Amino acid sequence: MKEKKTIALVAHDNRKQDLVEWVEWNYGILAGFDLVCTGTTGRLVEETFMKKLTAKQKRTGMPKITKLMSGPLGGDQQLGAMITEGKIDIFIFLWDPMEPQPHDVDVKALLRISALYNVPTAPNRSSADFIISSPLINEDYKPMLKDYSSYITREV
Ligand code: PGA
Repeated sequence: MKEKKTIALVAHDNRKQDLVEWVEWNYGILAGFDLVCTGTTGRLVEETFMKKLTAKQKRTGMPKITKLMSGPLGGDQQLGAMITEGKIDIFIFLWDPMEPQPHDVDVKALLRISALYNVPTAPNRSSADFIISSPLINEDYKPMLKDYSSYITREV
C-alpha cells in the first residue's frame, strides 16, 4: 500500500446520519487520508468537514474528497472499478440491511469486488471504529491476494 491511504466512504440513505456522526467523531484522523465517496455521501462528508474544521484548518487540513456519481446512478460501479485498480485501501460501507435499494445488484457487485480484492470493509459503525483505530492503518500493509493466474489462463 502507498504511504497515504485512500478510504472509500459510502452510506445508504437510512445510514447517512450514522456515517455523518462517525465522520464528526473521526474527522481529525480522516483528514490524514484521501477520501472517495459516492455523490450524496460525499456532499455530506464535505459539509461535515466544513463544519468541524476551523478556517485555518480548512485552508491546510481539508482532505482530498473525490465525489463519484451518486450510488444508484453508477457511483457504486465506479467505486468497484477503483477497487479492481487497487486505488482503494479501506472501505467503509454503511449499507441498509432493512430496505431494498434500486441499485441492489450494484451493491451486491460492490461487496463482491471488495471481498475479491481483500479490501478491509466495514458494514457498520463498530467495524469502522475497529478499522480506524487499528495500528495497521498507518502501516505499509499489503492485502494478500489470491492467485487467479490459473483461472485467467484456463482452457476455454
Ligand atoms: P449516495 O450513494 O452516496 O450517492 O447516496 C450511496 C449508494 O451507493 O447507495
